[in-house]
Amino acid sequence: EAKRRGRGRAISYQPGMIEAIAERGHLDNALRGALAQGQFHLLYQPILSLADDSIVAFEALIRWTHPTRGLVSPAEFIPLAEENGCIVPIGQWVLDQACREAAGWPANQHVAVNVSAVQLRSPHIMAHVTGALARSGLPPHRLEIELTETALVEDGRQVAHTLAALRALGIRIAMDDFGTGYSSLAHLRDLPLDRIKIDRSFVASALEDKHSLAVIRAVAQMGRDMNVLTLAEGVENSDQLDLLREIGCDAVQGYFIGRPAPPPRGGAEFSWVHAA
Ligand code: C2E
Ligand code: MG
Ligand code: MG
Ligand code: MG
Repeated sequence: EAKRRGRGRAISYQPGMIEAIAERGHLDNALRGALAQGQFHLLYQPILSLADDSIVAFEALIRWTHPTRGLVSPAEFIPLAEENGCIVPIGQWVLDQACREAAGWPANQHVAVNVSAVQLRSPHIMAHVTGALARSGLPPHRLEIELTETALVEDGRQVAHTLAALRALGIRIAMDDFGTGYSSLAHLRDLPLDRIKIDRSFVASALEDKHSLAVIRAVAQMGRDMNVLTLAEGVENSDQLDLLREIGCDAVQGYFIGRPAPPPRGGAEFSWVHAA
């Protein structure tokens, strides 16, 4: 029985699996050449400060235009790039491009860049960050680096060292998608954070689900007590915005504020139309 099962397992591809593997193989290959082919660009999503209803930052979000398939979502290709190592040069390109574009924005606006766990653990991370700042002339305090909980948790010692070095330069550190990863209150206590971004799944259900609401309230309160800014992600309507204002989150981001869009030419042109 074991033998049959063992033998069976080796050839028991489910319908669609071969196609899925071939698809992955194809994307994997295409991804290796994408940077040299200039197939990436960045979109920017505004971040609204609730203290004064002004756009204080933009988050850079990568887009890949595959020559025949069109746009491929980062949710699909970032994990692949992390596996095959491409994330390090891609991440360096993102840092360079984001810093260069942000250097032309008003001085009161900063740029938030997503950095993957693999990239954070690369021996080149500090050189890539300082290089991007030097080449663009962007002051370090106008760069924020977003890390997921997974990135912050793995290899705690080295990560804490890198975060301290980044922060010593004046760069801000945000914990992205808070509440969905390996959340630990010890990490909030021990890591040097400037901002906590509450995952959009909590915002999406906050109006109907009192547990989601309780989590957002607790994180907002914790942020105030710890002197860490809080931002709620995924705000899609005015009821959610009103609720987050009442709770006292410092900032919000989401389709209701603005969708990811091509680089703002002088962020001042961005008009926030929903402000009270
Ligand atoms: P993230 O960093 O949490 O970025 C927020 C994601 O939520 C973006 O998806 C954004 O378009 C989407 N979003 C923003 N507002 C709303 C909303 O109101 N409703 C909904 N349903 N979605 C909203 P996107 O651009 O597809 O990126 C997905 C993820 O891919 C990002 O999540 C981030 O983890 C990763 N990613 C994107 N760009 C980069 C990059 O340059 N480097 C790395 N390492 N990862 C990136
Ligand atoms: Mg992010
Ligand atoms: Mg996020
Ligand atoms: Mg996310």
